[in-house]
Amino acid sequence: MERTFAIVKPDAVKSGKAGQILARIEAAGFTIRGMRLQHLSLKEAEGFYAVHAARPFFGELTQFMSSGPCVLLCLEAPDAIKKWRDTMGATDPAKADAGTLRRDFGMSIGNNATHGSDAPETAAFELGYFFRGMEL
Ligand code: GDP
Repeated sequence: MERTFAIVKPDAVKSGKAGQILARIEAAGFTIRGMRLQHLSLKEAEGFYAVHAARPFFGELTQFMSSGPCVLLCLEAPDAIKKWRDTMGATDPAKADAGTLRRDFGMSIGNNATHGSDAPETAAFELGYFFRGMEL
């Protein structure tokens, strides 16, 4: 078993798609181990995306991630990190495969509905950033 960190981003919560995305998460075979609705502050979003601080879209990304509530999730499954990345699809919804969450719910490369950790080290950092051990 493996755990990964996921977010239903503010665009998807705002447009009323969180329930559909959670249903797809369960249908895909993930167990939800942690879940919380939270409106991130700009500082919290900047800390979360610190690895992207030098990227040109950092300001846009952190403004967007702090623009409204999102759903923070700890998901568990065999090979959960890769499985969740596959379930989400490519970063740019226009390039994501049919049947993926970003293809179905994302609007643009910035407003792409979901986040997922990309490696065991980032999953450990991201889960620890948002959840206390006791909550999981
Ligand atoms: P991910 O791992 O698939 O989420 O993609 P990255 O780690 O490359 O980027 C992190 C997040 O930054 C993405 O999910 C997008 O929301 C956002 N992002 C990536 N590229 C761009 C871009 O060119 N413009 C904007 N506005 N956001 C971007």
